Amino acid sequence: MSSQATLERWNGFATKVTQRLTEIMAEADAGFAGMLADPGLDVIAFGNAMTALDVRKKDLDQKLSNTFSEQVAIQLAMDTAAETQAQHTLTRALWWMEETWERYRTKKNLELVQVLWTRLEKVWSKPVPCVRCGAELARTVFHKAESVTCRHCGAVNSVTPDMAVYNYFASAPHMYAEAMALEHRFAVENYKRKLHDDRTVRVQQLDNWREETIEELLHWESLERAYWTTYYSAQARIVPMPEDEQRTWVESRMRPLYEYDFNRRTVWRQYKGMA
Ligand SMILES: [Zn+2]
Repeated sequence: MSSQATLERWNGFATKVTQRLTEIMAEADAGFAGMLADPGLDVIAFGNAMTALDVRKKDLDQKLSNTFSEQVAIQLAMDTAAETQAQHTLTRALWWMEETWERYRTKKNLELVQVLWTRLEKVWSKPVPCVRCGAELARTVFHKAESVTCRHCGAVNSVTPDMAVYNYFASAPHMYAEAMALEHRFAVENYKRKLHDDRTVRVQQLDNWREETIEELLHWESLERAYWTTYYSAQARIVPMPEDEQRTWVESRMRPLYEYDFNRRTVWRQYKGMA
C-alpha cells in the first residue's frame, strides 16, 4: 500500500474512533437525565456510570494508540514525512477526545451538583427548634455540626446537618471547582504540548538541543498557578475558606512541579539562585 493510501485509511480510522466517543456521550445523556430527574437520586450510581464511561473513553484512546504503533507506524517506517503526519493525526485525535470527554464529564458533574443543591435548599430552610424551649435556633453554618446557644432560653443545642447536606459537601466542592477551572487545565496542557512540539522541531530540523528557557518555564508556572488559584477560589464559594488557607493549598499543589521538574533544571536553579 502506498503511504498516501495508508495515511487516508488512518485518517478515516481516527475520524471513526472520535465519532464513536461523540456517540457514546450522546447515548449516555438520556441515562444521566433520568438519574438527575429521579427523586431518589443515587449519587453512587451516578459516579459508577461516569466511571464506566471513562473506561470506554480510555479504551478508544488505547485502540487509536495501538493501531498507530502496531500497524500505521510500521507501514510508514520508510517514509518519515508520512509517519510524522500520521503521528500528528494521532496526537490531535487523542487531545480532541481528552478535551471533549473532560468537558462532558465536568458538565454532567456540575448538573449533579446543581440538582443536589436544589434538594438541599429544602432541607436546610427547615427551622431547627431549641430542644428546651422550641424557639427557632439561629444557625451560623450549614455544612457541619455546630453548637448553637438559644437566644430565647440560653440552652446550648448541638445541631447536626441532614445526611443530604453531608453528601452535597462530599462531592460538590471538587466537582464545582474542577468545572470552573477546566479551561485553565487545558491552557496548561496546551502550553506543555506547545513546548514539546517546539522542542521536537528544534531537535529534528535545527539540531538545536537547548532546553526550555526561563521565560518559558515562568509562563508554564503562571498557567499552573492560575489553574490551582481558580480551583481553590471556586471551592471556597462552596465551603468558605480564608484566602491564606487557599494560598497554602495552591502552594502545596504547585510543589510537585518544582520537585519533579523545575528544580532539576539548571536554568531554573540558576534563576532561583539554588546550588
Ligand atoms: Zn431555647
